[in-house]
Amino acid sequence: MSLLVKNGEIVTESQRYVADIYCEDETITRIDRSIAAPPGAEVVDAAGKYVFPGFIDPHVHIHLPFMGTFAKDTHETAGQAALVGGTTTFIEMICPARADQPLEAFELWLGKARGHCPCDFSFHMGVTRFDDAAEKDFREIVRRGVSSFKIFLAYKGALGITDEELCKTLRLGKQLGVITTAHCENAELIEELQKGLLAEGKTGPEYHYWSRPPAVEAEGVHHLMTFAEMTGAHVYVVHTSCEEALREAMRGSARGAQVWVETLIQYLLCDKTDAERPNFEGAKYVMSPPLREKSNQDILWNALQKGFVSTLATDHAPFDFAAQKQMGKNNFTLIPNGIPSLEDRINLLYTYGVKRGRIDLHQFVGAAGAQAAKIFGLFPRKGTIQPGSDADLVIYDPKYRGRISAKTQQMNVDYNAFEGMKIEGRPHIVTLRGQIAARDGKFTGHPARGQFLQREPTHF
Ligand SMILES: [Zn+2]
Repeated sequence: MSLLVKNGEIVTESQRYVADIYCEDETITRIDRSIAAPPGAEVVDAAGKYVFPGFIDPHVHIHLPFMGTFAKDTHETAGQAALVGGTTTFIEMICPARADQPLEAFELWLGKARGHCPCDFSFHMGVTRFDDAAEKDFREIVRRGVSSFKIFLAYKGALGITDEELCKTLRLGKQLGVITTAHCENAELIEELQKGLLAEGKTGPEYHYWSRPPAVEAEGVHHLMTFAEMTGAHVYVVHTSCEEALREAMRGSARGAQVWVETLIQYLLCDKTDAERPNFEGAKYVMSPPLREKSNQDILWNALQKGFVSTLATDHAPFDFAAQKQMGKNNFTLIPNGIPSLEDRINLLYTYGVKRGRIDLHQFVGAAGAQAAKIFGLFPRKGTIQPGSDADLVIYDPKYRGRISAKTQQMNVDYNAFEGMKIEGRPHIVTLRGQIAARDGKFTGHPARGQFLQREPTHF
């Protein structure tokens, strides 16, 4: 089986040129100015289009038990949404409850994905308890190809860990060469602020913000930076939402902490006023950390452009507005957290980043995939276009014009936070390891073709 992509403008994190790409089976085997089609090859004309490496979303939730319900997408629907939107690989969080055995959780999550996912996938292993038995499991899970941990400094009593456990997790990460990703918010402060707001009768979704203001997030990042400095571990701050938190990460970095920073497309395009929409509509925009004051958006865009923020993810977590979000109708602390955005991340970043001149094409490729591949040990198999890399290609049509709508989306959720927003470009064809998996907004691939990507530790 072979595929020839002709006349496209190839754009990677560092290069831009017009050439043909020849893929045999699952791999790119040749790139040249003009390649004649061998007999039997499927030929795609990419003239007038960009050819990007398949994008990577390093922060998604698919199988997600949360607040007594489950996020709506299955691996099948999420994988289709990802591919249609140009994301060929995602990294999902394994989130065991504190009482669960880590290895059992790993097997549960892997079992949900394997044989059911149309795009390639990997995992971050959630560390929600650290003791001798758990440590043994974490070592085994790393051996099986999961080379990153995820910890929560928020969600007291559910997913959150103590400082002793934080220290031990980072030390193990350092020893194994595993990077630790972290949700940074101060759990105790959140609890106190929530209690105070509810006692005053402030129960609407607009008060979610006030239970987790920027200082709460900044304190969490500062806390992580202290432990990163003390242990020498490599850390990655997920979903950075505001200037205060970013500044703590940069200050930690200046002191020698080995830190990488992620932000989300929601923080660049939505703001605090979305969670203040009337008739409980604000609940659609409830996630943690909360959407911030609009003034943070310029700072995050600039940080992305300068490379202070390495990756742009989604923290995809779809909960229906009609039923699930209503659980918090009379109490904002019971609104399931999440803004689904897996499908729209690339088109939004291209339209509002590249087209508006906030980032260039190389920074776009870096933030949307190449950096995640490098940080999480998938490069150069993923994240670039070169002989030997997986043939994951996004043939992108910059002339497409459209609007985002829940009516036409693949994501299995009843709303879209970006409803009505203009899109100036979208994937024309998306390939996963040499096979066409999506075309012009439609999934055309195999529902179970996604592979579990085993990753080697890379950070020492
Ligand atoms: Zn998350």
